[in-house]
Amino acid sequence: MIFYKTKEEIEIQRESCLLVGKALAEVAKLIKPGVTTLELDIIAEEFIRDNGAEPGFKGYGDFPNTLCASLNEGVVHGVPSNKPLENGDIISLDCGVLKNGFYGDSAYTFEVGEVSEEIKKLLDITKESLTFAIENAIVGKRIGDIGYAVQHHAEKNGYGVVRELVGHGLGRSLHESPEVPNYGRRGKGLMLKEGLVLAIEPMINMGTKDVIQSDDGWTINTKDGLPSAHFEHDIVVMKGKADVLSTFKYIEEVLKNK
Ligand code: MG
Ligand code: MG
Repeated sequence: MIFYKTKEEIEIQRESCLLVGKALAEVAKLIKPGVTTLELDIIAEEFIRDNGAEPGFKGYGDFPNTLCASLNEGVVHGVPSNKPLENGDIISLDCGVLKNGFYGDSAYTFEVGEVSEEIKKLLDITKESLTFAIENAIVGKRIGDIGYAVQHHAEKNGYGVVRELVGHGLGRSLHESPEVPNYGRRGKGLMLKEGLVLAIEPMINMGTKDVIQSDDGWTINTKDGLPSAHFEHDIVVMKGKADVLSTFKYIEEVLKNK
């Protein structure tokens, strides 16, 4: 079942999506070599609760924390830990909130200290692939157009596109229909209609597209151990141009001033 949102529902959900961006910006202030992802997790949870919301992931399918923190070869679903971040790492932080009955869900991959040019390019291309995906999330296009946009841009640059994990509808549930794969064929799949809220989240690997489940039972890692990047926005399908509900604005203000 697909839930198309009314204008009123979208405005309520926008607040949840913006709050995720603000929570990630709070966390961004602290990211540097030596800090642990558990410390970041505590900051995120406090900020979310102080803003009248609940962490969206904590307790979801027994996930223990507020943030998914996926380090380097971690693709998604990493569990925050006591391991200090190191210079040259990348850390994908994925955050969900539930406020006024609606979820927000957004992710950003951060550089820790100085990262290599090779990794910077992976981050840039992944973020660009998200932009191209959003350009295709408009009335009259299909789900396959979104996936194609991501896949085409990533593969053109020699990267692997994860198949096993996908974006999703978002609303009163964290995962609603439809699934939004990061690969696909133009003109195929569900026709996009106004009011459909999607979490679009390219997961792009520097090497192979293949992933493996780590021993902790949560983290998904690249099979070849090469780094992976992940960026996620929540959008509403509209005519001509998608309405992006989440934002990286607050995060990037913090990063610019670091
Ligand atoms: Mg997410
Ligand atoms: Mg998501």
